[in-house]
Amino acid sequence: MASWKDVQFLDAKEQKALQNRLLQRFVERQLYPFSPWYKALFDKHSIRPGHIRRVEDLADVPFTSKNDLLATPEDPDRPRRFVLHPSPELIRAHWPALQKVQLLAQRTLFGKERVRKDLRREYYPIFVTFTTGRSAVPVPFFYSGHDLDNLTESGLRLTDTLAFREDDRGLNLFPYAPHLAFWQVAMGGIAAGTLVMHTGGGKVAGTEGNLRALERIKPHIILGVPGYLYHLMREALKRDLRIEGVREVVFGADSVPPGLKQKAHMLMEKLGSPNVSVLGTYGFTEARMAWGECPTPDGSSSGYHVFPDMGIFEVINPDTGEVLPHEADGELVYTPLTGRGTTVFRYRTGDLVEGGINHEPCPYCGRTLPRISSRLSRVSSVHTINLKKVKGTLINLEELGRVLADDLEIEEWQVELRKKDNDPHEVDELVVNIALKAGADQAGVEARIRERIKSHCEISPNLVRFLEIEQLLDKLGMEREMKEKRFVDARKSS
Ligand SMILES: [Zn+2]
Repeated sequence: MASWKDVQFLDAKEQKALQNRLLQRFVERQLYPFSPWYKALFDKHSIRPGHIRRVEDLADVPFTSKNDLLATPEDPDRPRRFVLHPSPELIRAHWPALQKVQLLAQRTLFGKERVRKDLRREYYPIFVTFTTGRSAVPVPFFYSGHDLDNLTESGLRLTDTLAFREDDRGLNLFPYAPHLAFWQVAMGGIAAGTLVMHTGGGKVAGTEGNLRALERIKPHIILGVPGYLYHLMREALKRDLRIEGVREVVFGADSVPPGLKQKAHMLMEKLGSPNVSVLGTYGFTEARMAWGECPTPDGSSSGYHVFPDMGIFEVINPDTGEVLPHEADGELVYTPLTGRGTTVFRYRTGDLVEGGINHEPCPYCGRTLPRISSRLSRVSSVHTINLKKVKGTLINLEELGRVLADDLEIEEWQVELRKKDNDPHEVDELVVNIALKAGADQAGVEARIRERIKSHCEISPNLVRFLEIEQLLDKLGMEREMKEKRFVDARKSS
């Protein structure tokens, strides 16, 4: 890993050389010798670790996907096989002579016990977070002391990208749980030396508790899940609270529709903070870090600034696996360069990016870090629905959600897939539940939404249902769930 001061402004050539060097070293000294999963994978495909010398060579390594990480009845310990596990024999067999001499010198200088403790800190799992897919089985990702240092470093870099200031006060409303978002913010705040209060989010502190925290701490920066933060702002407005002096609202742990950013901006203005920047972040459990947008004068997205010395992103064709040019539309694939603990390699994120990765210097902050386009959606949000008995139609629920979130007259929404008449042999139905903003014209919204869904998703909802806000919030599980239930697939249970 390079220093943050330097890595932000490397030119393309320097960045590439650094990644090539780190990749080669990581595969030869860490991944291949110490990862049971990847040792077996490389051997099976006759890939010599020394063969991976440049980023382009990654194309010769098979992808790892979410399914590879799941425990199976025959292989109940599957997730553990992704944990780096060194032994004196493996170190002797795989580390280059110079590195072994260094280890020996440390032993002579500081004693055997100290070397043992250092190695234990570097590799032994002491912390864990879990994947948080809305439907999938949670998979554990282990961190060693070394990985917690990385989480601190990425937190520091993230808060710097988001332009936190030393004397800022922050309010962390991410749910308190063994999930990346909460801990990334917690470690980032500590590393940046800013005062951050962590309430644990809606489920832990409740809306009343969070509103009290807002009034008391008077934060400059508020961080949380988009749906919940928006809900909280609305509740604050309902109670005529003034929330002045907020400079940034930072969304994470869920997709960030541009329309929601705009709506949050309007609400914050009414609450007394007119000059707020609403910023998005992107991260996933498997990377054990998150990246952010930098502030822009007009609220447009600068893209997620990633750290080239900590990992490599590729864009691939999700159907063929072919590596695409950086700025193409495709699926993001991630390869870490610094991890210990649970380590994935050429990991298919399942996230589809529109506009790929921009390698030009950022026009807003000037950093030369690669920037991932914020137009992201999940492969898992694409569903087949059978509206007619003849054949299925593909629908991207996240894209549908974006149409609803972007509408300025819609306050809350939910999308439901169900069977007609609750009959498992019947066709599917698409139902859109909407709570309107006060004063909105119901017939006008329905006509507009039907039209937009038709043009964006090439599909027509069977029913657009208007509900009272309280009723819809209850259906969403706004105060009860880690992430609100935006998409409900009631077809299987019926
Ligand atoms: Zn920037």
